[in-house]
Amino acid sequence: MPPSHRSPRGCVNVPLRGPDSAGFGIDDADDFADADEIEDHAAVFEDAGPAAFDNARGRVVTTVVHVGRLEHIKNIRKSRRRLICGREQDCEDRMVYQQISRDPAEGFRRTRLPTGWFSWTLTTQLSELLAEAEARFGPRDPTWTPLGIEFDGDVPHIWYPGNRRHVSVVLTELARQDVKRALFQLSHETIHLLSPTGGAEAPVIEEGLATMFSNQISARYGLGFSYDVQSYVTAANLTEALLAMYPDGIKRARERETSFTKFTPQLIQETCPNVPSEMAARLCQPFVRG
Ligand SMILES: [Zn+2]
Repeated sequence: MPPSHRSPRGCVNVPLRGPDSAGFGIDDADDFADADEIEDHAAVFEDAGPAAFDNARGRVVTTVVHVGRLEHIKNIRKSRRRLICGREQDCEDRMVYQQISRDPAEGFRRTRLPTGWFSWTLTTQLSELLAEAEARFGPRDPTWTPLGIEFDGDVPHIWYPGNRRHVSVVLTELARQDVKRALFQLSHETIHLLSPTGGAEAPVIEEGLATMFSNQISARYGLGFSYDVQSYVTAANLTEALLAMYPDGIKRARERETSFTKFTPQLIQETCPNVPSEMAARLCQPFVRG
């Protein structure tokens, strides 16, 4: 797929259609798309996401550019905006409107049920999932604000629009019209909303908890999804072993340290004394997909 269709914001970039847009061909549109992508990736850490979704790191790597090149592209964008619209802000506004995808996505239409209650949506399900995760594994870090759900690509992840402690959940293109898949992925990403890092790699305990939690939700709702990548299965097994010994172990550890990335073997052994030191160490290692 061309870069113009791979924006992590879930937008399809379209050529500008300002009053003087004649002469802006596909190359120009691609330049805008490149700049969008590079800016986004400069600001985004793409979480590894659940198993069986490849290319996350490949996508990031392909957009790593020299800072000078990034500035160059930004300057091109600014000058073109002025050229097209006369006023840069007018053009910014028009671009925002044009770039909002019109592609349909299931799971957001609220309907009135025969009982008089409203139906669930992915939005309200996220509330349920977050509430359960916080009750079982400790409160989320409230200095981060979850924004909502987008669809794009083949790797579910969270990212940080604007680098202002806002968090967006990106589910895959396949989940856009598959609510069961969307719920499964959403339940995994819910765990990553407990203590977003803004970019650091998740440790095994966080990825294992996300995997375990989404497996439980899948079984509870009959979603029919599970993991077949060994690293996720192993991480989930390790985390489940910890919780089998200490059902509230993660919650108690997070009372002392909210962020999973700052967990240490010492913290785990202090809150869960019978956990072997090797197991505590493995839980705190950076998670490596594979
Ligand atoms: Zn994950």
